[in-house]
Amino acid sequence: MPILESFAAALTGGGVDVVDLTAPLSADTPVIQLPPEFAQTARFELEELSRYDDRGPAWYWNNIRTGEHTGTHLDAPNHWVTGKDGGDVASIPAARLIAPAVVLDFSDRVAAEPDFLLEVQHVREWEEAHGPLPAGGWLLYRTGWDARSDSQERFLNADADGPHTPGVSTDCARWLGEEAPILGLGVETVGTDAGAAHSFDPPFPCHAALMGSGKYGLTQLQNLAQLPPRGAVLVVAPLPIVSGSGSPARVLALVER
Ligand code: MN
Repeated sequence: MPILESFAAALTGGGVDVVDLTAPLSADTPVIQLPPEFAQTARFELEELSRYDDRGPAWYWNNIRTGEHTGTHLDAPNHWVTGKDGGDVASIPAARLIAPAVVLDFSDRVAAEPDFLLEVQHVREWEEAHGPLPAGGWLLYRTGWDARSDSQERFLNADADGPHTPGVSTDCARWLGEEAPILGLGVETVGTDAGAAHSFDPPFPCHAALMGSGKYGLTQLQNLAQLPPRGAVLVVAPLPIVSGSGSPARVLALVER
């Protein structure tokens, strides 16, 4: 049987599940907050145009306003100064938007330590148990943080010292960008970098290394607990915003049952 024919049969007849990794997009969707001297991203907004009324008797529709980096979204290489000559979100080759994914689960560690940082050694240990990272695929970093995504306050988890959310160490970020064979890094938090990464050297090392290497970031994912450590295929669908630095994205995982 042709590959796509058996795939379609598995989708409709069982055998392949589709897991939605996307957070619902609304005015309540948490957004990152930068120090006050910097420009801030917009929350998602709906502006009603008509709703079966005299503005449009048979139709309902809205304008939307959103940051490129609001909700579940993709970071394109040109998002960071290290990738400023790299691609925009519209120029990502379509074939890269469907790719294998592995899930590294550190939710137990993060439950005890919200500032937990992923190290190269953690990835190496995972590879010993589960095999190598997928070339041209996603490393999805599970932290359990998706359980907080219904609350801006709990999601950002900030105190007087700034936000406390899990991330990646400076060394590991550089390794993921420059050495690991991955296409990009997916996380459950508001950004790929740790909450404390403003104070790292360099600041926001994950953004610096990933974007500088022409790789991608995926943020505010949920339902990673429903994925196996390896074997899932991700469908990532950002809007092709011309010259855009990223886009809200629908992210779906295909999982063999
Ligand atoms: Mn972003």
